[in-house]
Amino acid sequence: MKVKNLKWGPSGPRPLPKGYKSWLDYWIKNYGGVATGCANKDCENKAAVGGHVMPPDGKRSNHWFIIPLCEGCNSPSNRHEFEVAQRHLVGISNQLS
Ligand SMILES: [Zn+2]
Repeated sequence: MKVKNLKWGPSGPRPLPKGYKSWLDYWIKNYGGVATGCANKDCENKAAVGGHVMPPDGKRSNHWFIIPLCEGCNSPSNRHEFEVAQRHLVGISNQLS
């Protein structure tokens, strides 16, 4: 599915939940796997961070996800939509505070 970057500060749209070292750590523990490559299907780099993404219309749907990305794909200058595997998306609960 197509997603695009959420534009936020380093901690993301919500504070990092307790018990996690980083958003990449959050993704690994909730996905139950190891982050290897950048989730962008057109990118060959290694995953460096847990990036915040949303569907292209996500501002209305409020469905936000964490997915492993390289620094380049997570950069605020990357404004393009990109294709990722839906199974790699880990949702951010709306209940997090
Ligand atoms: Zn990438």
